[in-house]
Amino acid sequence: MSKFWSPIVATLKPYVAGEQPRIADLVKLNTNENPYGPSPKAIAAMQEAVSDSLRLYPDPTALALRQAIARTYAVEPDEVFVGNGSDEVLAHAFAALLKHDKPLLYPDITYSFYPTYCGLFGIEAVEVPLKDDFTIDLADYDRPCGAIILPNPNAPTGIGLPIAAIEALVAVHPDQPVVIDEAYIDFGGESAIPLTRKYDNLLVVHTLSKSRSLAGLRVGYAIGQRPLIEALERVKDSFNSYPLDRVAQAGAAAAIEDVAWFDDTRGKVIEQRERVTGALRQRGFEVLPSQANFVFARHPDHGGADIAKGLRERAVLVRHFAKPRISDFLRITIGTPEECDRLVAALDEIV
Ligand code: PMP
Repeated sequence: MSKFWSPIVATLKPYVAGEQPRIADLVKLNTNENPYGPSPKAIAAMQEAVSDSLRLYPDPTALALRQAIARTYAVEPDEVFVGNGSDEVLAHAFAALLKHDKPLLYPDITYSFYPTYCGLFGIEAVEVPLKDDFTIDLADYDRPCGAIILPNPNAPTGIGLPIAAIEALVAVHPDQPVVIDEAYIDFGGESAIPLTRKYDNLLVVHTLSKSRSLAGLRVGYAIGQRPLIEALERVKDSFNSYPLDRVAQAGAAAAIEDVAWFDDTRGKVIEQRERVTGALRQRGFEVLPSQANFVFARHPDHGGADIAKGLRERAVLVRHFAKPRISDFLRITIGTPEECDRLVAALDEIV
């Protein structure tokens, strides 16, 4: 705290990202990365961008990338907004769409960036508790508000909502923006993107960090009707920032278009998720039903912090949140079959 700080900075509770330690032979299952790596075509496109064109500024409109995304989801390029990771896209959405005199609704528990952004942008938040079984009851969102943000599937529970429920939510709030954060949708959920045709209050946010295995590249995008996208563009242009560098634009477009790699790798993740879920349940864990590339699980006889510590001692890193209500849970990213075997073998020594 310093006398030079603005009052907002003094009250901020910065987001704490998962660890990225360098430990030899580590099984890293703590930040929901994808173990298979990006499409080889994306790597080739990035290599070409590095050798050919870094002398030049990037395309400030990222048109080729927006066209690739638009083709994939059957929307128009000007209904697509791209940014440096979905975190940046979400930040622009918060700045552009949320009201200062009406609260934003989001679940308690959810992605912990939302409260951080509310603090940063001076937006009041109403945290709507999950039900006892950790699901979201959309009836709880039927109240006056300025906007709603929901991850589908939710994080860190992994529990998804059916598309009909999302549609009902969007339909009962025609005057409020509803942002659906679909960071994990490709692992079994049903995307709300087609609903953006019908509803002008719906913004759907995606990332290339998970199902496209490009967390290090930092690319995310939003899809919605023109007035919502235009609001995000105004915020971006007010920062005078390029949406993405040349390497990211080239790699992301190639990754989006490599459907075969996308389908193959996400299929493997889903298969391992089902295997890990079964193995954990056999060992007495309660595992929430996940539609994501991670599982959220707790053991009746062992605390979450203790299991996480035991796993770490065996070079397996998972995520533990020291938050009330979920402190006995572990969030475990789905790795390769070998990594999942190492996880299960380590758990056998602990529980
Ligand atoms: N939304 C949710 C629900 C997430 O879990 C994450 C990843 N931590 C993000 C958005 C942000 O992902 P990225 O910035 O890598 O696109």
